[in-house]
Amino acid sequence: MNTLSGISPIKQLKGVGPALEIKLAKLGLFVVRDLLLHIPLRYEDRTRFVPLSLMRPGKAALFHGEIVESSVVFGRRRSLIVTLTDGTGYLQIRLFHFSRRQQNELMAGTQLRCFGEPRFTGRGLEIAHPEYRVVHGEIEPPEGVLTPVYPTTEGMGQTRLRKLVNQAIDIGWDGFELPAFESNSAAPANSPFNLGMNAAIRLLHRPPAECTSADLERAQQRLAMDELLAHHLLMKERQVIRLRERGVPLPQAGGLGRQLLDQLGFELTNAQKRCVRELFSDLDRNQPMMRLVQGDVGSGKTILAAFAAIRAAEHGAQTAIMAPTEILAEQHYMNFSEWLSPLGIEVCLLTGRLSAAERRHQLARIEAAEVPVVIGTHALFQQSVVFGNLALAVIDEQHRFGVHQRMALKHKGKMPHQLIMTATPIPRTLTMAIYADLDISIIDELPKGRQPIQTRMLPDSRREEVIDWLRPRLAKGDQVYWVCNLIDPSDDPKLHCVTDLFEDLRKALPGTPAALLHGRLPSSDKSANMAAFKVAETKLLVATTVIEVGVDVPNASVIVIENSERLGLAQLHQLRGRVGRGSRKSYCVLLHTDKLGKFAQSRLDAMVASQDGFFIAEKDLELRGPGDVLGTRQTGEAQFRVADLMRDAQLLPGIGELGDRLLAEDPDSATAVLATWATPDWGYGSV
Ligand code: ADP
Ligand code: MG
Repeated sequence: MNTLSGISPIKQLKGVGPALEIKLAKLGLFVVRDLLLHIPLRYEDRTRFVPLSLMRPGKAALFHGEIVESSVVFGRRRSLIVTLTDGTGYLQIRLFHFSRRQQNELMAGTQLRCFGEPRFTGRGLEIAHPEYRVVHGEIEPPEGVLTPVYPTTEGMGQTRLRKLVNQAIDIGWDGFELPAFESNSAAPANSPFNLGMNAAIRLLHRPPAECTSADLERAQQRLAMDELLAHHLLMKERQVIRLRERGVPLPQAGGLGRQLLDQLGFELTNAQKRCVRELFSDLDRNQPMMRLVQGDVGSGKTILAAFAAIRAAEHGAQTAIMAPTEILAEQHYMNFSEWLSPLGIEVCLLTGRLSAAERRHQLARIEAAEVPVVIGTHALFQQSVVFGNLALAVIDEQHRFGVHQRMALKHKGKMPHQLIMTATPIPRTLTMAIYADLDISIIDELPKGRQPIQTRMLPDSRREEVIDWLRPRLAKGDQVYWVCNLIDPSDDPKLHCVTDLFEDLRKALPGTPAALLHGRLPSSDKSANMAAFKVAETKLLVATTVIEVGVDVPNASVIVIENSERLGLAQLHQLRGRVGRGSRKSYCVLLHTDKLGKFAQSRLDAMVASQDGFFIAEKDLELRGPGDVLGTRQTGEAQFRVADLMRDAQLLPGIGELGDRLLAEDPDSATAVLATWATPDWGYGSV
């Protein structure tokens, strides 16, 4: 008798003890249903035996044969070599680690059933450490279905996961399932709308041998639809709640905004002006603002927050500004001080570097609402930070924060207005789906006078040329970032590390004031080094990707990126955005290993071809390739278990309509969908 259900704790399954339970939790698996939604990364085909004559290098296969020879060889490494035949051909198996028992077992005459991927060696096909089983008597037939390979964690074998998933499949899907999908007769026969949840789940975990990748995709979309629907419903629910909330309106109450405008050294772009108007009209109302500003790197998002903070200050209320890194928080502190201090608005920086006494003092003043603008990292969320009169929360580079954090800041005031800024270049339809509960402003224009950044790829063997090219520029006062993502030396001679690089560059460029910046430096060194670069005391900053987000030094005009073939497109785009922020002609040099793979080449080509974040995001999607369609996970705001917003984008409009219809006609089902899918990652339950 089986009394378990989809929401039974996973420890109630057979074979799950406390140790396993902890590992499963690491994978986000807590209840039985989570296992059903743990979608395989890929599949292995053990549904037929491949004759040895047809085995091909690089193709994993199931095969069997009889051992004709077995010997221990002493080459560079001692190994046990076993030769097999099945009558059609021969194949070698090599074990580098083997026990006495294995050696005795793997003797001529023994029958083996194996699975593995052959390589081509001088002496023919060989497999190192295949899975194998000694056959006594009849050879077990091949598997009836493809073998799933699951995302896993250390100490958690595939076999164990498969067994657990099997138990979950026996219990089946008992979560909410939209009947509308199944009875949707208008949908074509091969549409995911015509597949039930249980059928889709079975197909994904136990696909029959003849199953195509189109079948698998359809099954995955079936699951994704319900998940996306749940997400849509949650966003709608939040929106409804938000429209009922009442905050404190912050209409214009002085001339400080005008004053800031007059004292800025530049004129706002039209896009910035439009955004300012949009957020001012939000602030005029007594409904709390919830606005997302999306704009490519360097488009000038920061200043918008200053205009909003002025509104709050004019009402004697506080603004909290949160940045994802200390470096960025310090930079904001400098900028906001420069903009706001002349207007008599005090700005304070709350970081981990304050002494205990300073911190206590600042906290007391923040609680007494004596400081109008407070800047910090996620440390602002801490319980000990109490705002006397918080009216506005600004979250910069919001994709770096989780939803809970966003929510937590909100609870620090009486329904504060929220301004959220992001540079993630995702297509507009997707933005609207992920952030369906927010109002969106887009900065689609760069400040005037920016020159395109000239981007070049160069193989590592030509790095000397880069250094020679830099010399006269550095002498003229240009500032240079040299980025290298590894902190410690690696075994791989192709990889550079930032500490060695720093020494090398100092030798190669004597007389150039240089500094090092990476995450493991003491935080006082980090900020001193960053500050020195900002005021051009140092000309060369050798850094890891800690500078990736937000860092703004308009005078820096060159960025050199080491081992650029190892970074993703989005990250390269962010890094390149560190230059081209002033009126100087800027350059980006992508150093790469001498031999580039096909995908790395295409990625770097895309960087050379364009500077447009949207173009680059689309290329990124394209280059992730069909092989990566299963198992790709969206990072950022919403963590989906099955859905992938890029891949499933075409489902979104239909899902939106369906969701709205459900809310109007069948709210109970809407609640059930949410209860089935929504996770704390989405901020469910914490609205
Ligand atoms: P991001 O959108 O990447 O956060 P920032 O707000 O850091 O961009 O702005 C990039 C740089 O451009 C900063 O040095 C900022 O002072 C400057 N800037 C912002 N708006 C303008 C403008 N309208 N004209 C000229 N420079 C501007
Ligand atoms: Mg920024």
